[in-house]
This record gives sequence, structure tokens and C-alpha cells, in this order.
Amino acid sequence: MSGPETASGLQVAEAARALVEKGLNRGAAGNVSLRADGGFYITPSGVPGDILQPEQIVFVGMDGGWKGALRPSSEWRMHRDIYATRAEAGAVVHTHSDHATALACLNEPIPAFHYMVAAAGGEIIDCAPYATFGSEELSKNMLRALGPRRAALLAHHGVICYGGDLRQALHLAEEVEGLARQYILARSIGAPKSLPPDEMARVLELFRTYGKQGK
Ligand code: 13P
Ligand code: ZN
Repeated sequence: MSGPETASGLQVAEAARALVEKGLNRGAAGNVSLRADGGFYITPSGVPGDILQPEQIVFVGMDGGWKGALRPSSEWRMHRDIYATRAEAGAVVHTHSDHATALACLNEPIPAFHYMVAAAGGEIIDCAPYATFGSEELSKNMLRALGPRRAALLAHHGVICYGGDLRQALHLAEEVEGLARQYILARSIGAPKSLPPDEMARVLELFRTYGKQGK
């Protein structure tokens, strides 16, 4: 790799390492990608994030053809389908983070128990029905569960989310894991109520400008 390829490989490898260091992934679980001209750079299949090298990152075209020394992530379809259908997606992160995965194992969405659920762009974070990892069916289920939002749980599997860039996608993956943890804690001491739709609509409106200092 050279030039922009090296820079993208470095960014993707650093993000995959960060996910392991933050405890959001372990071993080779999960994958990361970054949109590029005509396709995306993605982590290779089966390589643990903490030993991944930038030159091992694989380029995958929108037709599924790939270029690299290693095979691309088995979940390249989920990443490709997000880039193909969500123009605003610049980076995609998939994790098996513990608390979000625990909820996904109940086939349940994360409801509006906390206003920060709106960080994913909607009133809830939905859960996609189970399908085998790497399958087209999983990708279809995932797109449906995403709807207009930027994150979804994957039943008996984990989480997928995207952002305009890698930093945003990583933050959202962390946020979803934190929300799942808080939701499990709340449920362990009672029955959390959901915020009403009009309040979530207000929060979503505020989030359009929140944190955008000076813009
Ligand atoms: P890959 O190593 O092929 O990316 O698979 C990890 C994973 O999380 C499958 O869902
Ligand atoms: Zn997975």
C-alpha cells in the first residue's frame, strides 16, 4: 500500500486496536471499515485487533471484489450494504461488546429508557433477527433494523453502527455499549420507563446542533 492507502490502513488498524483496548472486542471478534473511492478498507478475517498491522487491511470494491494479502472480514457484506444505502456513512464498526450483546441475546431493542438513545439517531436501537455471521440474510436483517438510525443490535451476535468518520463510529459503538450496560443495571433494580415520543423528538432536534461548537 502507498499514499492514501497507507493512511487508510493505519486508521482502520488503529480503530480495530482501540476496540480491543477499550474492551469492546476481544480476539478476532468484530470488524472495522472506512469508505474509500469505489469501495472501502476493512479489517481482514480472523486476525485479532491487538496484533493487526496496517498493511493487512484489505480493499473491497462495491461489487465484493477485493485486493490485499489476506481475505477481507467475513462481514464485508454488512459493511458494503451500509455504504451502498447510507450516503452519510463514512466508517462502520461492528463489535461483540458484552452488555449490548447480552441484550441482543434476548432479541430485544434498547428502548428510550435514557435520552442518549437518540445518539444513534432515533427513539430506539432496534435488534435485527438472527442470521448466520457473514450471510446475506444477516445483512438484510441488519439494514431493516437500522432503518433511519446509525446503530442496531444483531440477535445472538453483537452490534453494528456507523458514523461520518471512524471517530464518530467508534464513539457510537462505545455509547451503545454504555447504554446497554445502564439499561441492564436499571432493569436489575426495577422496570425502567421509556421517555415519551415527543420528548425523544425534542432531544433528536437538539442533537442536530449539540456539540458542534462554533458552527
Ligand atoms: P471476521 O474476523 O471475519 O471479521 O469476523 C468476526 C466477526 O465478528 C464475525 O461476525
Ligand atoms: Zn461478529
